[in-house]
Amino acid sequence: MTDASLTLPTRMRIGAEFVEGTEPGETVLAPATGATVADLPEASLDQVDAAVAAATDAFAGWSQETPAARAAALLAIADRVEAQAETFAALESLNCGKPKHLVLRDEIPAIVDCLRFFAGAARCMPGSAAGEYLAGHTSMIRRDPIGVVGQIAPWNYPLMMAAWKIGPVIATGNTVVLKPSEQTPLTTLKLAEICADVLPPGVVNVILGRGESVGSALINHPKVAMVSLTGDVTTGRKVLSAAVKTIKRTHLELGGKAPVIVWDDADVAAVVDGVRTFGYYNAGQDCTAACRIYAHEKIYDRLVADLSAAVSTIVYGRSEDGDNEMGPLISARQRARVASYVERAQEQNHIEVTAGGAVGAGSGFFFQPTVVAGALQSDEIVRREVFGPVVSVTRFGDADDVIGWANDSDYGLASSVWTKDVGRAMAAAARLQYGCTWVNTHFMLTSEMPHGGMKNSGYGKDMSLYALEDYTVVRHVMIKH
Ligand code: NAD
Repeated sequence: MTDASLTLPTRMRIGAEFVEGTEPGETVLAPATGATVADLPEASLDQVDAAVAAATDAFAGWSQETPAARAAALLAIADRVEAQAETFAALESLNCGKPKHLVLRDEIPAIVDCLRFFAGAARCMPGSAAGEYLAGHTSMIRRDPIGVVGQIAPWNYPLMMAAWKIGPVIATGNTVVLKPSEQTPLTTLKLAEICADVLPPGVVNVILGRGESVGSALINHPKVAMVSLTGDVTTGRKVLSAAVKTIKRTHLELGGKAPVIVWDDADVAAVVDGVRTFGYYNAGQDCTAACRIYAHEKIYDRLVADLSAAVSTIVYGRSEDGDNEMGPLISARQRARVASYVERAQEQNHIEVTAGGAVGAGSGFFFQPTVVAGALQSDEIVRREVFGPVVSVTRFGDADDVIGWANDSDYGLASSVWTKDVGRAMAAAARLQYGCTWVNTHFMLTSEMPHGGMKNSGYGKDMSLYALEDYTVVRHVMIKH
């Protein structure tokens, strides 16, 4: 499946240099086959220091650039990503196992649009009016960059997470040291090559390494003023502990367990179609995945039957990329984790696995698209983030119960409500404790709108003008007349 003409990027970007890591690192695998792609050394502690020093040096100049100059840089990066879409899609497909045609259709355009959005947003920073709030004095509000931002990305959408992270950083005049996941560094290294063509040295630095070594050094670094993490809740806690010591700003996009409330007046065919797509996209390795369905008792049986039949038709694991709708899980470890959730669910007498339920055939890390019906609010499969192609269905009868159950979660990232009754949808949206509520759809993102969570899903927004707020500091300047 590897394209022989594909050149693998292997070098980190530190200041004006492309360099190899000097410490033993991670073996990068192709999840669709289990084959080794590359052994990439990781950054030494000295190289982490050098990257932070380069970002610190670059901040003095970059923070003083005009918004127009920053916008031009982002537009140039977007154009180059778009022009090299095939290469990026091939690398992402190799490294994550994603069907390449879906990366090209869905991810690359969204990534390019995100970078272009931040180019425009860089020039439109909103704020309050200057004025004489104290007699004889004029006050004005500034929104200034914060400094060096340490950014840490996960493995599920490596290039998209890199774009969501560097977009607002570049737009606002900060500088960055970005660490991709040790499992999926390839497209971020390629993006660093483009950044090197477009940006002054040190504005975007990319370093490789595992969380416990390189990630930990970055989040604990005294010269890093802010840490942005997309990752697990446990890692989020480590970022917060590190931030306590050096008083850093933090921006945390952590896990999710999205409730999908389906009322008895919902268009069941549309729900089935939506969950077949939005519950299994990226093999369910998505923090907004439509994975926790609450179905009204009047439509429960039909929904379970139709959804199970539809999910059983999801195509995966074929040799022809264009046929596949779903890829593998990222690793054998992640697949074993998903399988163990399904096994424990199956041990419950009230639960029935109505589609899938087992690992897929072949040497790749595939897991069958799975529906777990009859789950109760107290079940692990309803409460814990599986991060795989597994959707649970729970029966409800009472409107108050279902909102209570939906909110009875450690997570608070995304939710959806399916009903023809606008009033019911709005009442639910007003009570749901989630960063996003979709009505009669799920999973739809747009660069102008914020993405981010509540509760253990973290805080801070990606995309939208709210990201510019998160990556800037409000300052007051007062002039005595
Ligand atoms: P992870 O937390 O294990 O790893 C994420 C990143 O953190 C990696 O780069 C890793 O190297 C780094 N890391 C790990 N330990 C660290 C430490 N001690 N110090 C510093 N860095 C460390 O998560 P993952 O397994 O890569 O990603 C899956 C998780 O991310 C899921 O829980 C998922 O829900 C979440 N996620 C959330 C969003 C969102 O927007 N909310 C998006 C994607 C993924």
